[in-house]
Amino acid sequence: MTTTSSTRAAYETIIGLEVHAQLLTRSKMFCGCAAAFGAAPNTQVCPICLGMPGVLPVVNKRAVEFAIRLGLAMHSRIATSSRFARKNYFYPDLPKGYQISQYELPLCEGGWLDIAVDEQAKRIRLTRAHLEEDAGKNLHDMGDGASHVDLNRAGTPLLEIVSEPDLRSSDEAVAYLKALRELVVYLGICDGNMEEGSFRCDANVSIRPRGSERFETRVELKNINSFRYVKRAIEYEVERQIGVVEDGGRIVQETRLFDPQRGVSVSMRSKEAAHDYRYFPDPDLVPIAAPETWIAEIRAALPELPEAKRARFVSEYGIVPYDATVLTGSRALADYFEAAIRHGAPPKTAANWIMSELLAQLNAEGAEIESCRVTPKALAALFALVDAGTISGKIAKTVFEEMYRTGAEPDAVVAAKGLVQVSDVDALVAVIDRVIADSPKELAQYLSGKDKLFGFFVGQVMKRTEGKANPGKVNELLKARLGAPGP
Ligand code: ADP
Ligand code: MG
Ligand code: ZN
Repeated sequence: MTTTSSTRAAYETIIGLEVHAQLLTRSKMFCGCAAAFGAAPNTQVCPICLGMPGVLPVVNKRAVEFAIRLGLAMHSRIATSSRFARKNYFYPDLPKGYQISQYELPLCEGGWLDIAVDEQAKRIRLTRAHLEEDAGKNLHDMGDGASHVDLNRAGTPLLEIVSEPDLRSSDEAVAYLKALRELVVYLGICDGNMEEGSFRCDANVSIRPRGSERFETRVELKNINSFRYVKRAIEYEVERQIGVVEDGGRIVQETRLFDPQRGVSVSMRSKEAAHDYRYFPDPDLVPIAAPETWIAEIRAALPELPEAKRARFVSEYGIVPYDATVLTGSRALADYFEAAIRHGAPPKTAANWIMSELLAQLNAEGAEIESCRVTPKALAALFALVDAGTISGKIAKTVFEEMYRTGAEPDAVVAAKGLVQVSDVDALVAVIDRVIADSPKELAQYLSGKDKLFGFFVGQVMKRTEGKANPGKVNELLKARLGAPGP
């Protein structure tokens, strides 16, 4: 099943994501059990989360507050009255036989999240965000041939965040997930840990002929737990669907599971429809009333969010929106940028360097800004050396690479490697004279009108000084020496 790129280009990919973020509350959604990850199996359980008869759940107020935080940050409408429903199905990790979720009256509706795609901002609409409880975990690989159930996770609070089908490629899906993960971490409502499953997603994928406005049948890819897998799972699924359609087949609505080891997805079950779950309002829980005054309090306590930071970076530092988007991509990166400015770095220079040199180095080794050996102060000191004419902008890159590798201060690198810029007129004139003497052919051409050759002379001087000549001075002196080209 390999499609050619022209076949692939004939289709458009449509993706909508359902993200489950485990909320950072101390206790579970409807009981007092600890919600922490990693405890010995079945040590964080009580009659309520075990689904014993006769018990009554009580809503965790903190979880509601966290959900409202996200809703406010995503410009959603916050329902002043919302309700829990029972989603009925049978599975061994679900002791009650139903999951408490929200159905017709979710806490947050509408809203959006802006992501950066191909240096452009793109707005992804949010359908809804609602609270629900997680299920337990079935364990099949304990080595004793039996299956076990760990109910520590049963009843932990989840926020399900559902996007509209606005994403058009696996890269957009990854960009959205990263932005959303960043947001929940900024907000302090989720640790964003994909490996431990506290931030996971189901991807709904369909294809359609490019140019068509219709939505076609979608396939749901379940429980993807890394950014890399999201990309691979979607790409595999798109290829698969194109193959089916190109062979004259039809896509069936189903749930598939991605197997990262084999790089393929397998059908899990045909998709149930909402009515299969027999949703009905949970009679044990009263509707959640979130008074306007409480919502206003939560709003007032929000930290500065990526979007506001972005707008402030544009207005305060005069950088372009795309750069501001990249620099606010994580709180740590934004803090780094602002720290460099506080140490005297010109904002635009800092933005350019961080986005090109610094991020390139970090990406190359898959490192995070938090572990970067170049401090914001050292970066600002590097710019000061360029500004003072001690080194050229070109040499600064060499110095930076050394700083990045060793964590050394810029002046120490410059001194140790003898990289001080040559601005001395006599020294430069001597090099220029030698270059001209060695290039009679180019000189004749230049003088007869081939003025592009000016760059050749500049290049030769830079080469012979190992890049250390002051480029401004070289230009000036060469112009004086060569005169305007003839005839
Ligand atoms: P369900 O509970 O059946 O999964 P939801 O309405 O909760 O349904 O979620 C549906 C998800 O599927 C949303 O993220 C939505 O954007 C996405 N979606 C809907 N239609 C399509 C489609 N044709 N192609 C891709 N994604 C779709
Ligand atoms: Mg779903
Ligand atoms: Zn419990």
